Amino acid sequence: MAPWVRIDGDELRVEDARIIWSPAVCASADGIAFWLRASGTRSVMHLAGWAPGNAATDLDGTEVRIENPGPDAGVDGRFLTSARVRFGRVTSERAVVSIDGEVEALEADDESRTSFSADLICSVAPVAERDHCIGCGGPLDRFAETRDQFVAAFRISQRILPVLCPPCTGSVERPCFCPTCGAAFTDDAVSTHGEEGRTGYSARCPQGHLFSGALPG
Ligand SMILES: [Zn+2]
Ligand SMILES: [Zn+2]
Repeated sequence: MAPWVRIDGDELRVEDARIIWSPAVCASADGIAFWLRASGTRSVMHLAGWAPGNAATDLDGTEVRIENPGPDAGVDGRFLTSARVRFGRVTSERAVVSIDGEVEALEADDESRTSFSADLICSVAPVAERDHCIGCGGPLDRFAETRDQFVAAFRISQRILPVLCPPCTGSVERPCFCPTCGAAFTDDAVSTHGEEGRTGYSARCPQGHLFSGALPG
């Protein structure tokens, strides 16, 4: 079975679908926040949600209702207004996901809704842990903070690590160490690109982890 997203009688081609997840406490219940993205020649669908559990495999056989998807969810360029996400055959690497939902009309003053449905086979992976300072390679654990954020109207607490340790903040010119494993980047492994008016960097470490982004500050 090929994965698909159907909206307004159109079937959109999906070439890649993935779920990344992260442990997240919501109203003092242990759970996981998940972000689902399906793409083809363009972005086809993205949404986020929260479910009780400790790992992605706890999603197996569950149904998650998303009543307030927020601006971070859409299908084919339209805002999503509600969705029902059913997870089946979930392993730590793969999940079969069926979704029914509604999206807003294309015109802003049109109150009508269009339904959509999707059947996807998603790769599953935890959000990459980045626990090394990209300036000195040192551990960042003791600088972790817990912050609240909203994921589809679920208020979740997440553990956030800085990109740079406090001694490195403001004094680093370019990424020097892989944030995932702490290995040093060789000079020719780092390239630059524009990123929202700032200098962005892409760097691949000897183990193949990719860093892409601007330096904070
Ligand atoms: Zn540092
Ligand atoms: Zn690495």
